[in-house]
Amino acid sequence: RIQPAKPHAKNWDHHFSLEASSRRVSTLKSSAKTPQADVISLGVGRPASEFYPWQSMIMPGATDSHGTRTEANQGDAALPMICTQGESAFDLRTALDYGPSKGLAPLLRFVHQHTKLMHNPQYINWDVSLTCGATSAIEILLRMLCDRGDSILMEEYTYTGAMEAARPLGLNLVGVEMDRDGLDPVALDKRLLQWDVASGPKPKVLYLVPCGQNPTGITQPEERRRAIYAVVERHDLIIIEDDPYYFIRLSGPFHHADTTEKQHVTADKYLTDLPLSYLSLDTSGRVLRLDSTSKIIAPGLRCGWISGCSQLIAAFTAHSDFSTMGASGPSQVMLYKLLVERWGHEGFFQWLMHQSRRYNERLNTTLDACRRYLPIEICNWTVPECGMFLWVEVDWKKHPKARREGVGIDSALQVSIEGSVHARAREEGVLVSSGSWFAVSKTNQDRTYFRLTFAAAPGHKLSRAVECFGNAVRKEFLKKR
Ligand code: PLP
Repeated sequence: RIQPAKPHAKNWDHHFSLEASSRRVSTLKSSAKTPQADVISLGVGRPASEFYPWQSMIMPGATDSHGTRTEANQGDAALPMICTQGESAFDLRTALDYGPSKGLAPLLRFVHQHTKLMHNPQYINWDVSLTCGATSAIEILLRMLCDRGDSILMEEYTYTGAMEAARPLGLNLVGVEMDRDGLDPVALDKRLLQWDVASGPKPKVLYLVPCGQNPTGITQPEERRRAIYAVVERHDLIIIEDDPYYFIRLSGPFHHADTTEKQHVTADKYLTDLPLSYLSLDTSGRVLRLDSTSKIIAPGLRCGWISGCSQLIAAFTAHSDFSTMGASGPSQVMLYKLLVERWGHEGFFQWLMHQSRRYNERLNTTLDACRRYLPIEICNWTVPECGMFLWVEVDWKKHPKARREGVGIDSALQVSIEGSVHARAREEGVLVSSGSWFAVSKTNQDRTYFRLTFAAAPGHKLSRAVECFGNAVRKEFLKKR
């Protein structure tokens, strides 16, 4: 029997809150949607599955009344990780039950020790809480610290997830100028000194990504951090230190041409070479540091941690009690098994060094390909010290249209050149991210960039991907008038 066609549901736009109506789709996620099978992605900073520490997972089912295993549990082969009800420190019952939003005690203890080891906060009353990843934590912090109409300070190019979380909350995003060492403290100070209260209250929050910054790849040197911290103290700001790339060290101990030297990097050398975090510098308790497992273990865990002064952490967990209700129990147990039972702190550092080495190999392949395939008269880039991004400047003023029409202050021409290079790269078979997606303010950007990530594509395709991008730039810039 032919069923009558079903109607569409009503449109509910008119019932949306101000927040929901102003929400936009995620720029990066929509750029990565439905990729053609033959397009290689240098676009989205999503680690390839070879970076995950687990190969398989087993969750034993319940036994029946005779103690016989039930169906779901038959045919187990190698069991890399088992969590059973009734096990000691962290059993499956605990993992599957409601738990404290802050996180389950045995894992939280490890995170607390880790924070002490890595950052040794300079005041007494500091604390940590697990999060459902950095993006969720940023959203909670913005709700906790800002009201509609407030302004928040960010690097002039920044993580789209933070911008896209902030806008629907009615916040005004203020991009602060950057130079080759990252956010410029003089520009920051000037903005705050000259703040016109008629335009809204003076900002209270500075959001920044200090290592392997997304998208520029910049890692702020120590003096820069100290200078920014001094400005922040002067103007009584809270810093959200979003640092998911901290442990992915590309230079320093891993960046040696000589591979034998590479193998002798000790955990001590690796740790002493890590940048000084804002949390380590902080004496007032104004830094809220976000760590994430997404880039160093696996993003699907949706788990990270926040560290900072106890009062702010308590407000964070109080918010989580009525929103995320904390990180998922099974994710926490996976982390507990790995970090506490298998690795311990030393094993975790060994893993992080191993990840850094692998990212470093990918970076080297990408850099070799850039030198070989990108036209250096049009493109330039800086080698990142941390993270997974290469920020390539494409000199749009060398485009035939710009030369013909004059560069003036015509940003429409620049935008169209950026769009054409992006589209042409896709046609050539590579997905890259356009720099303007990351710009806090869409005006006043007189440079054109593309962000290439070497984390996501299969390693053996990285070189080909850069070649495709180089072809796109060449064809776009050298095309007939
Ligand atoms: N923060 C920055 C600066 C990022 O670049 C990213 C990922 O792209 C995230 C946070 C996402 O972290 P999470 O997966 O923990 O939400």
